[in-house]
Amino acid sequence: MYADLHRDAIVADTHNDLLMTVSARPPETWASFFREQWLPQLREGGVDVQVLPAFIDVHFRPEGALRQTLRMIECAHVLAEGNGDEVRVCLDGSEIDQALAEGKIALVIALESMPGLDASVELLPTLHRLGVRVASIAHWGRTPLADGSGEDDTESRLTSHGVAVLREMERLGMVFDVSHLGASGVAHVLEIATRPVIATHSSARVLRDHHRNLTDEQLRAVAAGGGVVCVNFLAAFLSDRPEGYTIERLADHILHIADVAGVDHVGLGPDFIREVLLDLTPPCESYSTTGLDTMATIPGLDGPRGMPLVTRELLRRGVVEQDIRKILGGNVMRLFRAELGRPAEHAPGVPAAGEARAPGAAVPQRGPVAAGASEHSR
Ligand SMILES: [Zn+2]
Repeated sequence: MYADLHRDAIVADTHNDLLMTVSARPPETWASFFREQWLPQLREGGVDVQVLPAFIDVHFRPEGALRQTLRMIECAHVLAEGNGDEVRVCLDGSEIDQALAEGKIALVIALESMPGLDASVELLPTLHRLGVRVASIAHWGRTPLADGSGEDDTESRLTSHGVAVLREMERLGMVFDVSHLGASGVAHVLEIATRPVIATHSSARVLRDHHRNLTDEQLRAVAAGGGVVCVNFLAAFLSDRPEGYTIERLADHILHIADVAGVDHVGLGPDFIREVLLDLTPPCESYSTTGLDTMATIPGLDGPRGMPLVTRELLRRGVVEQDIRKILGGNVMRLFRAELGRPAEHAPGVPAAGEARAPGAAVPQRGPVAAGASEHSR
């Protein structure tokens, strides 16, 4: 029963760092390595839409980070071209729909922070031309654009360059990702954003008091702007005790966000980082400098293969099928169909430049697709 529902629903994962493992290998092996190592996992997990962030290690200086950013974007295209029978890099909602109709996994290229951009806002259209459609502007620390959540004590808003990046992303049709952004930066973005935002991998702060999670006020504000919060599965973000590293606890976060933000504003951003860390970290080094046990996972959910367990748990908790479909991917698809790759002048309901939406104002229904009408047949 749950397996049938999971297979039939559109499942969107808005954060998997698999590009880190693929791009670490020789370019001539990118396509084959993806096919052997990741594709079977994504297929078994029923993943239909996969957002692929390019994450650049903090030790890179801007020029090196730009080179590495370009390399990871190229990697995404190469692995897709080499597996064109199975996956496709998609630039907007209609390309995603087309890929799904062909039984392919839709890939969306993203940036997790933009150290390669530095403050060169004029290069953002270049990254857009290369296929980037989702992006955040900070990781744990400070960037020329904003402070990450690890610097929350600064209480800092976006820099002028950060504001310019947000405006340029809205103009181009790139979805702004508030995950990792500091609390005051999130408030700033939600104050001035004219298009919906996404949190690609963030959970509920009231259930786990960590600066990477979102407060109820932030959850409501993202929803009021029409955005979606995609729950991070990383065990240490779900509970401060190993006893809490359970699928029940994950469902608690999903259902809490559904309660607070509304069931139309919650999605899944698993952040399956264990395999990436095992693959890339030399044995002599620590896995993490963040003070978190990033290797801990929920039983059965250490990778994409476990995704159907989420559907099973939500059914067990009494969530109705229509809402499960929204959580699995329907909400992310609504956002992507309306926002992804749609320049501001072509997006419905986007206020004129400089005219921010009033806080908490009702959000016009966007996009052509009614809930529940969007499932693909595979
Ligand atoms: Zn992250």
